Amino acid sequence: MARIAFIGLGHMGGGMAPNLAKAGHEVRAFDLSEEALAQAVEGGCIRAGSTEEAVKDAEAVITMLPAGKHVAEVHRDHVFGKAPSSALLIDCSTIDVATARSVEEDAAAQGYAMVDAPVSGGIAAAAGGTLTFMVGGSDEAFARAQPILDPMAKAVIHAGGPGAGQAAKICNNMILGATMAATCEGFAMAKKLGLDLQTFFDISSKASGQSWSMTSYCPVPGVGPETPADHDYEGGFAAALMLKDLKLAMDAAQSSGAYTPMGAEAEELFQRFVDRGGGSKDFSGIIKMIDDSWKVPEE
Ligand code: NAD
Repeated sequence: MARIAFIGLGHMGGGMAPNLAKAGHEVRAFDLSEEALAQAVEGGCIRAGSTEEAVKDAEAVITMLPAGKHVAEVHRDHVFGKAPSSALLIDCSTIDVATARSVEEDAAAQGYAMVDAPVSGGIAAAAGGTLTFMVGGSDEAFARAQPILDPMAKAVIHAGGPGAGQAAKICNNMILGATMAATCEGFAMAKKLGLDLQTFFDISSKASGQSWSMTSYCPVPGVGPETPADHDYEGGFAAALMLKDLKLAMDAAQSSGAYTPMGAEAEELFQRFVDRGGGSKDFSGIIKMIDDSWKVPEE
């Protein structure tokens, strides 16, 4: 069992860190929020008073932070030179590919092995230990990261070299944003054309319009499996986070010269939904904006 430092115990990290403790690891946890830290301690983690205290003597350092600037700052100011150089650094946050690569380069220059390991699956999967990890880094670093990530995972997949995990994550979420918007449009038009929506689901979920957004996460209340649509779009994956990922995808498209008109359209739609007050709703709630008969939030 390993000594693991866990930094960032919010919606995601707060579920993940206790799963490592349950698996028998010694988890020294730190968060700027006292409340988040107290919950992790209740979940079996050991309280650290700072990132420096958490990473001292650590064999692995896991970060689950909001954005690239937090990941860069925490590593450059509080991890590099403070954790033993033998420690494996694992960043599970969703951040831009350029920052991920630059922090990984700095880590290597300081003698650390590091991987980017963003996740798919929301708060429930974090708490349940069923996340999918997409890992970018060397073969050696991946082999060291895998057994550490396993207690938090349904799957741990090596995506490629440094930054490849973040690249896979934003390409995946760009597809998700676009297919969700297209699925909402399809149902909205089906309704206007007088189709029964359960009947349309039965047809399209077995025809070529099928996608995860339709069959596993149908945006229409009462149709398909139980989803956030059945709870007025509460819980699930917040539209604000989808917008964050689409912005990361558009940055990556620009820097790599990729042509992504559907991704750009999805970003604009989710921006409008967030501007209208939908940011904390599940991202499938965008159906409310696409068809006003699902109640459009006031502008
Ligand atoms: P969150 O805001 O709930 O948690 C982030 C935590 O980091 C907070 O508790 C905050 O206090 C802490 N923090 C910030 N700066 C810190 C610092 N310098 N030192 C220590 N702690 C610090 O965010 P979240 O929902 O847990 O998401 C974390 C990451 O996971 C994000 O990059 C997000 O995009 C990604 N993600 C989230 C979901 C989801 O459904 N919430 C799903 C997949 C991926």
